Amino acid sequence: MERIAVFPGSFDPITKGHEDIVLRALPLFDKVIVAIGVNSKKTTMFPLERRLEWIKTVFGEHEKVHVDSYEGLTVDFCRTVGAQYMLRGLRNTLDFEYEKGIAQMNHELNSDIETVFMMCDPRYSAINSSIVRDIIRNNGETSQFLPDRITVV
Ligand code: ADP
Repeated sequence: MERIAVFPGSFDPITKGHEDIVLRALPLFDKVIVAIGVNSKKTTMFPLERRLEWIKTVFGEHEKVHVDSYEGLTVDFCRTVGAQYMLRGLRNTLDFEYEKGIAQMNHELNSDIETVFMMCDPRYSAINSSIVRDIIRNNGETSQFLPDRITVV
């Protein structure tokens, strides 16, 4: 059976930290679906189409990487696409506490889906999409935080 992982997030925008998690997960899975969760109550800085395009640009030559978006529960999306794993990145203890709760709730919702955590590369542990958005709003330089092919203007 194909091992399929979903890497869910808002990717507003995708950063070097996200890119690193996906690339390091590739040897573990047959397919990694980077999936943008669309939540009508959450406003984003960048439109869905733009966020999807960026992810496609970053992983264009990696056949194992797929890009998608979904509404509703992540566990339901995983079931729809036949994923057995949910991939998450951990930067610090705050992430850990937050992710622990989500993973435990998701396990209650669907115990067939296993959450797999990958520890952030220390080079990227301070990179946070919301700080990147603040820098963009204030016209600062963001290229060092973004994947090489991505320019946000
Ligand atoms: P969410 O809105 O779910 O927090 P994000 O797009 O911010 O979505 O993040 C998606 C996933 O990527 C989460 O598991 C998050 O912990 C992880 N992540 C975010 N930034 C980094 C980083 N710099 N290094 C490693 N993982 C990260």
